Amino acid sequence: MEIKVVRKVLSVNERMAEQNRRLFFEKGVYVINIMSSPGSGKTALLEKTLSRIAADIPTAVIVGDICTTNDADRLALSGVPVLQINTDAFGGECHLAAHVIEKAVDELNLSGIRLLFIENVGNLVCPAEFDLGEDRRVVVMSTTEGEDKPLKYPLMFRTCHAAVINKSDLLPYLDYDLQQAKTNILTVHPEMPIFTVSAKTGEGMEAWLDWIKNRVREKSSGVK
Ligand code: MG
Ligand code: ZN
Repeated sequence: MEIKVVRKVLSVNERMAEQNRRLFFEKGVYVINIMSSPGSGKTALLEKTLSRIAADIPTAVIVGDICTTNDADRLALSGVPVLQINTDAFGGECHLAAHVIEKAVDELNLSGIRLLFIENVGNLVCPAEFDLGEDRRVVVMSTTEGEDKPLKYPLMFRTCHAAVINKSDLLPYLDYDLQQAKTNILTVHPEMPIFTVSAKTGEGMEAWLDWIKNRVREKSSGVK
């Protein structure tokens, strides 16, 4: 019985996600859904990314949190359009769903926008189950977390197209085994691109930015 309910919710979400995807396609907007556990640095990564990319590619951001506009306030300093969603208004959901993105997009003026980041609610579990209509999904983990996160949350790592390991600046002070973390990611998702970065110092950002720019370029030239 319960399984039926879950299936129904997911298929409604899938339909809505397809609608979002069509809209993004028509508007020529490339969409990247960023997910992680709380505190691994999604907002910091976005701050650094926007500071390096928004001058070349017109960008907007949708930020999901249960409460507060703290992250949106930080990201708005970059000057790009930022819309905060508080899932409190949608029952305090611990993830973003396609219908929430549809409402957000309604409020956000996408004309002229080429790249849209969605910062999902910090949570490695259910955000993985909800297609938002995005082109690419990125999972962020950080050197202050366990190297075994990919093994514990395989669905997240399997459904993402790239992984970012953030806070590389802390590596000298931690027992974190970077190679083991990468091995665990590749065990769950062979050949997934992995970017080791410090959103704080900017170390490693170049490869990450190139990956984004290449994806946006592919979409505008019609390559999926
Ligand atoms: Mg955040
Ligand atoms: Zn959830």
